[in-house]
Amino acid sequence: MAKRRTFVFIAGGVMSGVGKGVASASLGAILKARGLKVTAVKIDPYINVDAGTMNPVEHGEVFVTRDGDETDQDIGNYERFLDEDILKVNYMTTGRVYLSVIQRERALGYGGKTVEVVPHVPQEVIGRIQAAAKHHDADVTIIEIGGTVGEYQNVLFLEAARMMQIATPEDVLVGLVSYFPVPSAIGEMKTKPTQYAVRTLNSAGIRPDFIIGRSTHPIDEPRKQKMAIQCSVHPEDIFSAPDVRSVYSVPQVMEKEGLGVQVVKKLKLRADKPDLRYWKKLVASIEHSQKPVRIGIVGKYAASGDFNLSDAYISVIESVKHAAWSIGRKPEIVWIDAGDLENGKRKVEGIKQLRKLDGILVPGGFGSRGVEGKIFAAQYAREHKIPYLGLCYGMQLACVEFARHVLHHKGANTTEIDPTTTHPVIHLMNEQEEKMKNKSYGGSMRLGAYLCRLKAGSLARKLYGESAIEERHRHRYEFNSDYRKAFEEKGMMISGESPDGTLAEIIELKKHPFFMGTQAHPEFLSRPFKPHPLFLGFIKAAIRK
Ligand code: GLN
Repeated sequence: MAKRRTFVFIAGGVMSGVGKGVASASLGAILKARGLKVTAVKIDPYINVDAGTMNPVEHGEVFVTRDGDETDQDIGNYERFLDEDILKVNYMTTGRVYLSVIQRERALGYGGKTVEVVPHVPQEVIGRIQAAAKHHDADVTIIEIGGTVGEYQNVLFLEAARMMQIATPEDVLVGLVSYFPVPSAIGEMKTKPTQYAVRTLNSAGIRPDFIIGRSTHPIDEPRKQKMAIQCSVHPEDIFSAPDVRSVYSVPQVMEKEGLGVQVVKKLKLRADKPDLRYWKKLVASIEHSQKPVRIGIVGKYAASGDFNLSDAYISVIESVKHAAWSIGRKPEIVWIDAGDLENGKRKVEGIKQLRKLDGILVPGGFGSRGVEGKIFAAQYAREHKIPYLGLCYGMQLACVEFARHVLHHKGANTTEIDPTTTHPVIHLMNEQEEKMKNKSYGGSMRLGAYLCRLKAGSLARKLYGESAIEERHRHRYEFNSDYRKAFEEKGMMISGESPDGTLAEIIELKKHPFFMGTQAHPEFLSRPFKPHPLFLGFIKAAIRK
């Protein structure tokens, strides 16, 4: 007999950005803690086929999966909370769904039928959800529907949920993560916006099986009772998720509220008693980490104001936190706008900021804005012996800096910025030339996990504790090996390379407490219980400083 598979849809009510991703991931975590096999699917309602072509300021971080999909940052939440690899099958967008339907139609895959938005589009969505469940052999698949109910663009996904619930009601639940405002002028929690969200769900033919109430405060008993009557949801199926200091306490909060018990009961799952020891230990270690370590992240922020910065670099931030907590330190992240390190008065202020740091991190990036500031940050770290970690662009720009100031190649650059530079220390990868000529930009970078060999005697080798590793990538440019000899002669070691020896993957300075750049994105592999070795090495060096 085929294994029974169950599905929990999570939709959002009232407004976006209330933590649907963390709620979905936390539900996954408390189910996994009961010995169930869990996976999670994210549906993004936009037409883009993947998140790779979107501006991170607008959309947040692009999270790269092991198999090379450019996805939404929530996939990162799932990986961190579930400690499972989440793959291409776990991610879909409206664009991706329509593309498949149209391609199937062109291949006569519908056998001459009229292909219609309903049911063919939701059927494609359902097929994809089931494929993910099967691929991961999941008992429970959590499906997060991006956006908020009532938006025109997620109607077809709600329709997919409805169709699945009608076909197998015993195997499908729908939860609503909704916002309960406490307006300061009124001073009390309001339930009406969520009541409207539930009505909207109702008009899509769905009665939510449970509601997770996000708010600054817990939802009190009278309000739960009121909601129950208004929304036809039992009071014990309304769960409070008030603001907490760390997202990693959400699984425990949800467990205490009874979410795990109710979901198991409703789906009639055979599950063990929940074992949340790891989560408890993690939260305790976060609380006990008092002594700060100050890490500056030099990025591009100006265009987003203060609001999106943490989203664009979320995996980097989490990686710094995981490493710091694991050694009892409180991560203090200082945002440094690369533009502040470029010229004039702002630069004086920028340098003041750099001076106070224990470590400097330059994350990935694209394009010319802020590049000179990032190059300056690398130079400052190198010259002042401040621990430096460069991720992808941060590695490439550290190479540019080294070429300019140590090898004295004045105009050295990456050809991404200056295509006619006399010293192209970073240049387009061979395989990319043709793609760029054909304007083939979508999903065409060097993406996903690649093997890397580590040089004996290097710091990288010591930190990883292995001679070969796998890291995820997302780039078009690479270190130009014509400069390899000159770099090594002056003390910049290529300590990691692709198995065929053609690509420089990790660089490190010999005479420096910690100066390392990696062409990869190690931030995608850090987990709260397993900090990434490079981040750990970096934070330890920062503390020694
Ligand atoms: N822009 C650089 C490249 O394409 C670096 C990319 C990145 O940091 N992810 O190679």
